[in-house]
Amino acid sequence: MTDTTARNQRGEWRPEMPIGLPPIFAWPPQPGAVGKWFFGFPGYLLPLNAFWFAVAVLTWAFLTPELSTMASVEPGWIAWLLVRNAGLVLAVFGGLHLYLYIRRGQGDHLKFSTEPLATNSRRFLFKNQVRDNMFRSMVYAVPVVTGFEAVTYWGFANGYLGWFDISDPALFWAWFIALAILCPVIHSAHFYLGHRLLHTAWLYKKVHALHHRNVEVGPWSGLAMHPLEHVIYFSTTMVQWALALHPVNALYQLQFAVFNAAMSHTGFQKVMVGETLPIDSNSYFHYLHHQFFECNYGGTIVPLDKIFGTHHDGTKEAQIAMRERLAAMRRARA
Ligand SMILES: [Zn+2]
Ligand SMILES: [Zn+2]
Repeated sequence: MTDTTARNQRGEWRPEMPIGLPPIFAWPPQPGAVGKWFFGFPGYLLPLNAFWFAVAVLTWAFLTPELSTMASVEPGWIAWLLVRNAGLVLAVFGGLHLYLYIRRGQGDHLKFSTEPLATNSRRFLFKNQVRDNMFRSMVYAVPVVTGFEAVTYWGFANGYLGWFDISDPALFWAWFIALAILCPVIHSAHFYLGHRLLHTAWLYKKVHALHHRNVEVGPWSGLAMHPLEHVIYFSTTMVQWALALHPVNALYQLQFAVFNAAMSHTGFQKVMVGETLPIDSNSYFHYLHHQFFECNYGGTIVPLDKIFGTHHDGTKEAQIAMRERLAAMRRARA
């Protein structure tokens, strides 16, 4: 499969520029475009966000112990969550890596870089980017995410979480669905704020620089972080601790953070399922962050980069504006 129409002179595939915002932010309002964006296929709900929601519901129904048994802290159920999460991460991250980089299921179609993932490089553990990324994901990320999940269930089982008491079933389910729809929005806003914090001098040097060793990225790069960054990243579920009535909302928020990390670091604009179904990972926006560091701290669904002047839309003009902004910051510091 080849796609030469959007390649630059170096053979790197580029999406259509400029990278804009979803039509919800258009002025004057465009209700038709908003409806298509929200309900369309592919759109905000389908297929990806709905798919991850289904995974969360199935995980809760079939792969999670009864809530009442998690009211007391026992090693058995926590170990089960750990093993199950390790299996899910291996399946999704490993599956994407296997498909895109080993079996090369879509070749270089929609691939941003012509550079291979690093081997024989001192920047990485075992001198190998993929092994380094896998190690950090399995040994650090999986236990941290499991810790957040265990606290969620323990808190709900004991009545410490699930603060709102809504007994009307219609209201309960409306709130449940609203929080599920808002999950990617909560993720995006929280990710921006946490990521901005990680780019302050001390945290960057001691913690976040590790993630930025990945200049080129593959799915496993998504959770290749310092453990403190994992804690900051997965703390997104605490928003659901404050708002949710049901632990599935918090589970979805956590799993969304896990799986979205793989999708936003694929190194491909879309993952093709067969010839016809493109799963849009929208990862070019974050790919630019890995290339240039000081832009695109969040996503496009919550336009905080736009508001704070760090939105890089992929154009030459945005590149010049970013350079001028960084030069002004350096001058201000001097
Ligand atoms: Zn990243
Ligand atoms: Zn960063």
